Amino acid sequence: MKQLQVIVAGGGIGGLSLALSLHQAGIAVRVYEAVRDPSPPLGVGINLQPTAVRELTELGLGDLLSASGIATQRLNLCNKFGQLIHGEPRGIAAGYRWPQVSIHRGRLQVLMLRAVRDRSGADNIRSGLRFSGFEQRGDKDVVRFIDRDSRSELTDEADILVGDDGIHSAVRHQLYPAEGEPRFAQQILWRAAIEAEPFLDGQTMVIAGHFHQRIIVYPIGKAESGKLLTNWNCQMTVPDQAPLREDWNRQVEKKKVLSAFGGWRFSWLDLPALIERSSNIYEFPLVDRDPVSAWTFGHVTLLGDAAHPMQPIGGQAGSQAILDARALTRALIETSEPAAALARYDADRRPTMNDIILRNRNLGPEAAMQLAEERAPNGFSRVEDVISQDELDVVAKSFAAAAGLDVETVNHRPSYLSP
Ligand SMILES: Cc1cc2nc3c(=O)[nH]c(=O)nc-3n(C[C@H](O)[C@H](O)[C@H](O)COP(=O)(O)OP(=O)(O)OC[C@H]3O[C@@H](n4cnc5c(N)ncnc54)[C@H](O)[C@@H]3O)c2cc1C
Repeated sequence: MKQLQVIVAGGGIGGLSLALSLHQAGIAVRVYEAVRDPSPPLGVGINLQPTAVRELTELGLGDLLSASGIATQRLNLCNKFGQLIHGEPRGIAAGYRWPQVSIHRGRLQVLMLRAVRDRSGADNIRSGLRFSGFEQRGDKDVVRFIDRDSRSELTDEADILVGDDGIHSAVRHQLYPAEGEPRFAQQILWRAAIEAEPFLDGQTMVIAGHFHQRIIVYPIGKAESGKLLTNWNCQMTVPDQAPLREDWNRQVEKKKVLSAFGGWRFSWLDLPALIERSSNIYEFPLVDRDPVSAWTFGHVTLLGDAAHPMQPIGGQAGSQAILDARALTRALIETSEPAAALARYDADRRPTMNDIILRNRNLGPEAAMQLAEERAPNGFSRVEDVISQDELDVVAKSFAAAAGLDVETVNHRPSYLSP
């Protein structure tokens, strides 16, 4: 039988997961990435939920992940004064068989890129080539790319095209030409990663504040200095801000961040000091897109942020891209006809992802912080006087279960690809 050929447009977390997964399944894959040299680490912190760490472990990357990131053991939700509202165990401490890994997104991308090169061959990861269009001719996809430097056009042909080219996906644009720009949620994020002394136990992620102004801080790796590489995000409502195009490289002056968060100094964390010491602070609008009614069109489909760009609530965009990659690989193994396999993948993943996009617009576990702000804007002496344990449990559990992230589901679901 002739070997199936797959082209992936986009070598981000999802595209690289797909390349590794297809290689594991014996399916030929070529990844085209617009950036010429993806090796300088791009981005700041990203969280991988246990369900995704399980997949990367089954792809043989578990040890590398542990060495590069931090196994987060706890999530604390606090008010804007740093008072604890709710703390819960995460990862192994919560009973998962796999850890939650907080890691520098660029380090993750580089370790995955190396694995793809080693396993599939450097020829099959082609960088500096931007997807520009496709045609379905019979049972083939003819795909066009533009060379970033020479501006020349190159074509390639395969049985399947997967668009994993991010929130501004050009593949999605060809499928949905009238869609327009992402939806701006009138919130802005400022973010950086910096070496710092550990806070709390060095394995805790903290979200503090409320819907209109909050911070998310967590360690993402060990630094040579013995300190921890620490990710901080400041997020706030900006009602009058015109939509900004998201650009992972746009920087902002620290005085702008300090003017809003300069007073956020807690007994366990001096946020203004972290901001002061950060040399590169990135600005990013909070955006997503409305769910679409199909990802798959014949033998072309979407994956990751191209398929379901979501607000970063519950830290799962990267994890869900990894699960997409595994689900798509399984569909290709179990269904012999490519278009039928892609239709199966779409039916399997899209309804849940569409639900998460809409849920994320309404806050996830952070809803507890908003309740505390509304009921006790000046802080509290006893959190039980403000919010009950039952209310906290409902908020935390309903979100995890809807996203397929609860302990039972993750630990007991069958492997996507039996080793
Ligand atoms: C530079 C960068 C930094 C990021 N930093 C963070 C972060 O710090 N924290 C966080 O939580 N999330 C971050 N993200 C988003 C996060 O990686 C995704 O939400 C998630 O991992 C899903 O991955 P994805 O592969 O679907 O999309 P992405 O990771 O966005 O990857 C898409 C890839 O497609 C490439 N691409 C775009 N257009 C084309 C085209 N026309 N042809 C070929 N290739 C194309 C991009 O260069 C990119 O490598 C970042 C994304 C990028 C691109």
